[in-house]
Amino acid sequence: MTDQTAPLIDPFQRAIDYLRVSVTDRCDFRCVYCMSENMTFLPKKELLTLEELDRMCSNFVRLGVKKLRITGGEPLVRRDILTFFQNMSRHLVSGDLRELTLTTNGSQLEKFAQPLYDVGVRRINVSMDTLDEAKFAEITRWGRLPQVMRGIDAAQNAGLRIKINAVALKGFNEDELFPMVEWCAERDMDLTFIEVMPMGDIGNENRLDQYWKLSDLRARLAEQYTLIDLAERTGGPARYVRLEETGQKIGFITPLTHNFCESCNRVRLTCTGELYMCLGQEDMADLRAPLRDFPEDDRALENAIRAAIALKPKGHDFDYSRQRVDGQVSRHMSHTGG
Ligand code: SAM
Ligand code: SF4
Repeated sequence: MTDQTAPLIDPFQRAIDYLRVSVTDRCDFRCVYCMSENMTFLPKKELLTLEELDRMCSNFVRLGVKKLRITGGEPLVRRDILTFFQNMSRHLVSGDLRELTLTTNGSQLEKFAQPLYDVGVRRINVSMDTLDEAKFAEITRWGRLPQVMRGIDAAQNAGLRIKINAVALKGFNEDELFPMVEWCAERDMDLTFIEVMPMGDIGNENRLDQYWKLSDLRARLAEQYTLIDLAERTGGPARYVRLEETGQKIGFITPLTHNFCESCNRVRLTCTGELYMCLGQEDMADLRAPLRDFPEDDRALENAIRAAIALKPKGHDFDYSRQRVDGQVSRHMSHTGG
């Protein structure tokens, strides 16, 4: 008999209090490092309904999850997603959940920023790799920069704090390092750089061609700014510095040059109800079956969640160091949720 109040602790004594949830595999962009141009998306019936997502997330909250990040695909293109946010906000009101947040490409923010703020979202991540309109269209294939800019304006006007996520791409946004840092400083936004990860087939693009090491990026940043290391840890693979000259925070997500799996506090739920215990491993647990098989009783679901956490691996095996892509996982980031 399991103790129903016991928190989720994995075999390496890491407390799991952060759940990332992909609510859709669909997207209105086709970023070249994330998707191929012709993606086949899941049939609708495979997806968890919004009610099922609610039940799933609420169980995780009951088991000690304090932070919920909604992602995708593009979470804001899922029909009625605001209803889901509205319903989840009851856990903020009760104090069981500390933070409800999302990662978005910003395309729908103009419409959703204020309603998101109104249901208790306070901070969001917006992904943007370039400030150049033509390059933006090239990297996202289908995205348009002015639309995202309007979304960012709307979010800031609504009172949402923004962190910009930029994938560091060799030969693509290297020359925009300083303009992006300055733009974020002017708008009082934090900025995090991400190393490109080997996830999913992306058509003709080559990962090694895209890979810009963040240790190089950081060294270049240090030529113009004084970098102060911050002790702040979010339990993920990000490390932060403060730029003395501007006061802004810059993050580096470096799963490849370093990994920080020993302090990992998170698991990821896909839009079909698979729980991935590690972004970089293929192992997953199906939570949709216990959810659907027992619509009135959460015990089977809870047991499945606990059994999955007990299998959380020590870390990932991504590695580009041998000049080839090792440790690649077959699914796309949009499936697991970045
Ligand atoms: N559509 C939303 C967005 O773009 O913010 C949320 C989902 S997206 C998969 C989440 C994050 O994953 C984005 O910041 C994106 O840049 C990043 N991402 C996607 N594919 C990646 C890859 N292969 N390597 C590193 N980051 C990736
Ligand atoms: Fe869509 Fe985000 Fe993937 Fe770009 S990174 S294709 S916006 S899911």
